[in-house]
Amino acid sequence: MVDVVVIGAGIAGCAVARELMRHDLTVEVFEAGYDLACGASRTNSGIVHGGYDPEPGSAKARYNVAGARLIPSLAEELGFRYVANGSLVVALDEDDLPRVEELVDRGHANGVDHVRAISADELRSLEPNVNPAALGALLCESSGICDPFGMTVAFAENAAANGARFHFESPVEGVRHADDGQGWLVSVSGRDVHARCVVNAAGVGAMAIHDQVSADKIASRPRAGEYVLLSRDMGTTFSHTMFRVPGPAGKGVLVSPTVEGNLIVGPDAQDRTCASDTWTTPEGLAWVVDKAHDLWPGYDRRQVIVNFCGVRPSGDDGDFVIGEPDDAPGFYDIAAFDSPGLTSAPAVAADIASRVADRLGAAPNPTFDGHRERPLRFIEMDEAERTAAIAADPLFAHIVCRCEQVSEAEVLAAIHAPIPATTVTGVKRRCRAGTGKCQGGFCEPLVAEIISRECGIPLEDVRLEGPGSEVAPWAIGEVR
Ligand SMILES: Cc1cc2nc3c(=O)[nH]c(=O)nc-3n(C[C@H](O)[C@H](O)[C@H](O)COP(=O)(O)OP(=O)(O)OC[C@H]3O[C@@H](n4cnc5c(N)ncnc54)[C@H](O)[C@@H]3O)c2cc1C
Repeated sequence: MVDVVVIGAGIAGCAVARELMRHDLTVEVFEAGYDLACGASRTNSGIVHGGYDPEPGSAKARYNVAGARLIPSLAEELGFRYVANGSLVVALDEDDLPRVEELVDRGHANGVDHVRAISADELRSLEPNVNPAALGALLCESSGICDPFGMTVAFAENAAANGARFHFESPVEGVRHADDGQGWLVSVSGRDVHARCVVNAAGVGAMAIHDQVSADKIASRPRAGEYVLLSRDMGTTFSHTMFRVPGPAGKGVLVSPTVEGNLIVGPDAQDRTCASDTWTTPEGLAWVVDKAHDLWPGYDRRQVIVNFCGVRPSGDDGDFVIGEPDDAPGFYDIAAFDSPGLTSAPAVAADIASRVADRLGAAPNPTFDGHRERPLRFIEMDEAERTAAIAADPLFAHIVCRCEQVSEAEVLAAIHAPIPATTVTGVKRRCRAGTGKCQGGFCEPLVAEIISRECGIPLEDVRLEGPGSEVAPWAIGEVR
């Protein structure tokens, strides 16, 4: 019998797994996808929201503010990228000004640190490239930006280093009460795993799993958000995350630097039918770009390097569903977990893990080590650091990805990480080989070859992502 089964290896599942490892518990994480963060946790804005947007008194408000306070120190401890760049919510017309004041009041009600309204002059001095017609803004200095995939990997690797076990391509098909009344039977890959407790962190899939165990159904729908990502040449256009005043469809379109130095523009909010409906549409992208123009008249479409779409589960009552349903003791939901779920995840995870530990009477784990080394990046090193890195490992001198200056040493670190990257996209997400202007045109065949060599997989069986995405050898030959 396993103490805890966690369903889903997005930010919620990985953060909860790591928190559970503070206790003397056995933890198994089952993920339907081929890698960590196969859902919303890889395709979002990467904003650590300050917490002025959620309705006061809601679970969103509580966890958002608590999560935003935890993330800066977690970034240090777990070695993921976070920048405290602050955010601005820009009033573009007279009607927006009272809304800005409302958001400031809401921020104060939610206990957000450092949030205030600023004048048009102060806005322009902070952000000279903003629309000159802007009338003022909300400034939240406690907002930030992070690398959402890197943050998920950091939690997962630290959980694994402390004993949590991760299983990929392992979709949970069902959860039911164990026949002996003790705990739960989790059906996965044709077998039943007997667990004392279950944490349901399956993203858009969490509602279907919840509905198997509780009569109190959760109403939510998948909502897509489309983005365009601009090259690193544009990353200094704004230093803050720039929002429009939010409307009923969400927090409003943003234009923001990313921690990697790109500029991200988006998202919109459209209903879709399932988590895998991640296509972009000409209409959606055009709408996003149109709204971004209002914030930033200098928007330059020639700098776009890629567009993408993420799908989040949007609860009908607008709030997260966190905790044990009354009729399912020992089963814990992290459901309807849309924005600001990334920001909230550390606080939700700490809360859920302590409730699970209390229920199971778990002792503290005496060997828990919460520290994870931040992976080295050649592109971030100065000359002296590069010389030292190459002296220690000559593979730092072999650049695999020219656009992002990713060395073979970094690719190997991703492949041999505590949760190994065995696909081309898995490597790309961890060390950025293939994320630059050419989007992998040059380096993906090299990465495939390195995976083949290091993992002992025939080249024709190396995959881009999940099953069926094998990298065709003839394509590799053509690229060469
Ligand atoms: C467009 C967009 C923008 C956003 N921007 C922000 C932002 O800037 N800041 C912020 O704080 N939040 C943001 N969010 C919200 C944030 O991304 C999510 O709240 C968060 O990533 C949800 O994490 P999760 O782990 O619950 O879900 P996911 O990341 O979706 O992970 C769920 C995992 O469960 C797996 N799974 C599903 N079903 C099963 C099953 N049956 N068995 C096993 N595994 C299963 C999936 O494959 C997936 O990997 C945004 C979301 C979107 C879509």
